[in-house]
Amino acid sequence: LVTLAHVDKYFGDVHVLKDINLTVSRGEVLVVIGPSGGGKSTLCRTINRLETIDAGSIVFDGRPLPAEGRELARLRSEVGMVFQSFNLFAHKTILENVALGPVKVRKVPRAQAEERALQLLERVGIAAQADKYPAQLSGGQQQRTAIARALAMDPKMILFDEPTSALDPEMVQEVLDVMVELAREGMTMVVVTHEMGFARRAANRVVFMADGQIVEESAPEEFFTNPGTERAKDFLSKIL
Ligand code: ATP
Ligand code: MG
Repeated sequence: LVTLAHVDKYFGDVHVLKDINLTVSRGEVLVVIGPSGGGKSTLCRTINRLETIDAGSIVFDGRPLPAEGRELARLRSEVGMVFQSFNLFAHKTILENVALGPVKVRKVPRAQAEERALQLLERVGIAAQADKYPAQLSGGQQQRTAIARALAMDPKMILFDEPTSALDPEMVQEVLDVMVELAREGMTMVVVTHEMGFARRAANRVVFMADGQIVEESAPEEFFTNPGTERAKDFLSKIL
């Protein structure tokens, strides 16, 4: 579904992505793990073109990433993104937050978008909160809203950038459960996370990134029990 070939990215003099080669197939769940500053967020952001690249190519769904205009808007609507900070609209209800994208971007009639939004809220287990505002919800409920909002656009893929790292520990699982369910239903997902339980339950592949490079790429079980590089061993010994 998406292929990155020889991708390089600089912020000023800092070489943030170094010759990244990566393919994510339809239905695949890729977990990206690695030390802070390694380029994980930047990698996600290049895929929906929140960041430009300086060399190499990214092909999404058979086409090179568009630079601007309508094609770019379409790409963004086809690639969902869920962030660490939930980024919900504070002055809109949960239901409105989820219905907004389809109404604005897809011109879906409001009533129809809200009906679908309610179904999505049911799916992530928070339909009872539909008329509340984000501040009235727990972090876990807000993040589930953010996932429902991404799903409302019928994305071909969803990028998750540390979706549970801002949550209180007791809310992490409810969000991971929703993500595992999505994975089982065949959603293509790139997930930056250090949650090994999730990687073991749902990932097809783990990519270990450090210093802007893909250091190691392996099956989850293999990565966690028998990492192939010293760098990964060292990292795992710190987070386990
Ligand atoms: P973390 O685990 O802390 O989220 P990360 O692996 O997501 O880290 P990135 O956020 O992708 O790492 O950052 C990679 C490098 O790029 C870092 O050196 C960071 O300081 C730098 N960087 C990221 N965004 C910018 C920016 N907008 N301008 C300048 N430098 C940036
Ligand atoms: Mg990051």
